[in-house]
Amino acid sequence: MDQIAYVNGSFVPLAEAKVSILDRGFLFADGIYEVAAVLDGRLVDNASHLARLKRSVGEISLALPETLERIAEIQKELVARNQLVNGMVYLEVTRGADKVRDFAFPKGIAPTLIMFTTVKDIVNAPSAKTGIGVMTVPDLRWTRRDIKSVALLAQVLAKQAAAEAGAGEAWMIEDGKVTEGGSSSAFILTRDDVLVTRQNGSEILPGCTRKAVVALAEERQLRVEERAFSVEEALAAKEAFITSATLFVQPVISIDGKMIANGKPGPMTNRLREIYVDFARATAV
Ligand code: PLP
Repeated sequence: MDQIAYVNGSFVPLAEAKVSILDRGFLFADGIYEVAAVLDGRLVDNASHLARLKRSVGEISLALPETLERIAEIQKELVARNQLVNGMVYLEVTRGADKVRDFAFPKGIAPTLIMFTTVKDIVNAPSAKTGIGVMTVPDLRWTRRDIKSVALLAQVLAKQAAAEAGAGEAWMIEDGKVTEGGSSSAFILTRDDVLVTRQNGSEILPGCTRKAVVALAEERQLRVEERAFSVEEALAAKEAFITSATLFVQPVISIDGKMIANGKPGPMTNRLREIYVDFARATAV
């Protein structure tokens, strides 16, 4: 079956899904994206992703071409048309295609809205059992990382460097502290059983999975501290993990080749993963 994508009001075969070379997403990375997981054919924590989409487009004065309710309907229709059981829906909105390349916002130009789906068995991903190593890199990004912008070159380079070193993710470092993963939020569990993850602010993307995991942990009386941590603190921790929409909770077992604790996924990480999977199943729509 041909994969179906969505482009500006039409469902089309992926190979025919095209936008203009003058699209501002292409020319200026002038756009916002979101990724929501699909579990058993239903969208996970999508209200949280759509709320972040609304906030991100607002921060760059980009008007959505559809209401959030209509966007959710399109996401669901795309999942159904692709008969997607487990995977993700990617969506991107850009400031559209003008007739010229001009930095200033174009007038009277409709935004571009595209979506496509990808198959991924997130729950049974082998790396959730083995854990991954991370590699540290300097955080070279702009200072509005709270906006889910498609300007991802720094993360492309960071994740490529990590992949070449055999690591599963890059941890970006600024002023001696971990900001976040290349496409994930970073957590550690200290020797005193405190779950630590950097506080939201312009230094990091407010992860939807991070938010849910913090709430689920607090509901279970786990102590959570939202603050920055260093690589040294992470190496001295009991456990570490990352979260994202397409990984859920993913154990981290080493940093730059140095093992965390015994170099195996920690019990609290495994437990939080189970709790998150239960939450995802129970709340997916
Ligand atoms: N941080 C960055 C830089 C990301 O790109 C992502 C996801 O792509 C995340 C964190 C995790 O966010 P979420 O849990 O909403 O997927």
